[in-house]
Amino acid sequence: MGQYDVDLFVIGGGSGGVRAARVAAEHGARVAIAEEHRWGGTCVIRGCVPKKLLVYASEASRAIEDARGHGWTIEGVSHDWAALVAAKEREISRLSAAYSTRLQKAGVEVITGRATLADANTVVIAGRRITAKFILIATGGRARRPPGKWITSDEAFDLPALPNRIAILGGGYIGVEFAHIFAGFGARVTLIHRDTHVLRGFDPEVREAVTRGLVAHGVEVIACDKLVAAGHTLTANGTTFEVDLAMAAIGRDPATAGLGLDRAGVALDGRGAITVDEWSRTNVPSIYAVGDVTGRVPLTPVAIREGHALADTLFGNRPTPIRHHLIPTAVFAQPPAATIGMTEPAARAAGHEVVVFRAKFRPMRYALSGRDEQVVIKLIVDRPTDRVLGLHMVGPDSPEIIQAAAIAITMGATKADLDRTFALHPSTAEELVLLR
Ligand code: NDP
Repeated sequence: MGQYDVDLFVIGGGSGGVRAARVAAEHGARVAIAEEHRWGGTCVIRGCVPKKLLVYASEASRAIEDARGHGWTIEGVSHDWAALVAAKEREISRLSAAYSTRLQKAGVEVITGRATLADANTVVIAGRRITAKFILIATGGRARRPPGKWITSDEAFDLPALPNRIAILGGGYIGVEFAHIFAGFGARVTLIHRDTHVLRGFDPEVREAVTRGLVAHGVEVIACDKLVAAGHTLTANGTTFEVDLAMAAIGRDPATAGLGLDRAGVALDGRGAITVDEWSRTNVPSIYAVGDVTGRVPLTPVAIREGHALADTLFGNRPTPIRHHLIPTAVFAQPPAATIGMTEPAARAAGHEVVVFRAKFRPMRYALSGRDEQVVIKLIVDRPTDRVLGLHMVGPDSPEIIQAAAIAITMGATKADLDRTFALHPSTAEELVLLR
C-alpha cells in the first residue's frame, strides 16, 4: 500500500462517510476524510437530529392540551422560536464537534474543504493532491428546489421567526413532519400534495391515518397537482391564497455535481446517483460510494450500515455485502407513523397469500384528555409460512415499538411467535401480541 499517500480517502463527513472512515482507521488503515461544510452531514446538521429536537418542542403543545384533561391549569403559554433555534444550534455544534474529535481519536486525518477527483486514485483538496488506494464518495444529497420563492428544509431549521401562514409543497417525509412541527407552534399550515393521501409508498391504511392526523392537528391538506405559485401567492384548485412562507419538500437529489466523477470515469444512473453493487463498489474498481449519493435507500442508518460494511470488507478481513431488506422507518408526524417490511399491496403484488390483522383503538393516554385519536396497527402475514411480512403502525411511540418489533421480524418471527408472547399490560405495544 506504500505507493499511495493513504489507504482510504473519504469525501463527505456525514453519517456514511464518518462511519466508514472511523472503522477503517480502527482496522489499521491510513485514512483521510474531507468535509466542505460541517461535520455530521445532513442527519446531524439539517436532518434527523434537529428535526427530532423540533418535534419534541412542537409536541409540547399537545402535551399541554392533554394535561388540562388531567386536572392541570396551564395559563399564559407562549413559545420563543428564537430561543429554540439557538438551543438547537448549541446541540448541533456539540454533536458536530464530537464527530470530528472522534475521527481524530481514531487516527483519521480530518480535512476541511471541498475535495474533487483528479483520477481514479487521486483527490485534490485545498491545493493538495492526495493519492489513495481506495476512494469513498459519501457526499449525500441536496434538497430539490423549485424555481421561485421557495425555501427547503435547509432553511426551515434556522428561520429567524415563525411565520403565521405557511404553505408546504410535498406530502413525503419532510412535508408531513414539518407541517406538524409548524402547526404545533401555532402556525396556520397548508400542505399541498398531488394525491388525496400523503406518504405515497406507505401502506394505504397508514397513509389514511397520517392524512387524518394532519387534519386533526389543524393542517389544511390540499390535493392538487397543478399548483401555481407567484412568489408567496399560491393558486391551488382555483383558490388563491397568500402565505408568509412557502417551503418545498419535494425530494432530494444525489450530490454528485462538480466532484470530478467524470474525470475518474464513475458511472451515474438517470437520476444522477452513483451506480454501485452490493459491495458499494462503482464501475471503477478503486472507487466506492455509500449513502444518499447512491440513491439506494436514503436513510441515515442505512448509510451507516453501508459505510461500516465497506470498512469491514476492505480493511477488516470481513467481506460484508449489503442487502436492503427489512429496513424499519418512521415519519415523525404527531402522532408518528412507523413501519417495517411489506405493505399489503406490495405483499400481494409479490404473489404472497396474505392474512391481515388489524387493531384500531383509542390509547389509554387519551382516556381523560378526550383527544379523538386512534392508534392503527396492521400486521401482514404470509399464510403458508405464518411469517410476518410487514408491520405498520400509527400512534404514540410507534417508532420505538416498531424498532423493538423489528428485531423479532428480522429474526423471522411468525404470527405464532407473537401469539405465544405474553402481553405487557397496560401498554400500546401489547396489541402486537393480542391481534386475532
Ligand atoms: P419524499 O420522497 O419523501 O417525498 C417527496 C414528496 O414531494 C412526495 O409527496 C412527492 O409526491 C412530492 N413531489 C415530488 N416532486 C414534486 C413536484 N414536482 N411537485 C409537487 N410535489 C412533488 O421526499 P422528502 O423531500 O420529503 O424527503 C427526502 C428523503 O429524506 C425521504 O425520502 C427520506 O428518505 C428522507 N427523510 C427521512 C426521514 C425519516 O426517516 N424520518 C425524515 C425526512 C427525510 P408524489 O408522492 O406524488 O411523488
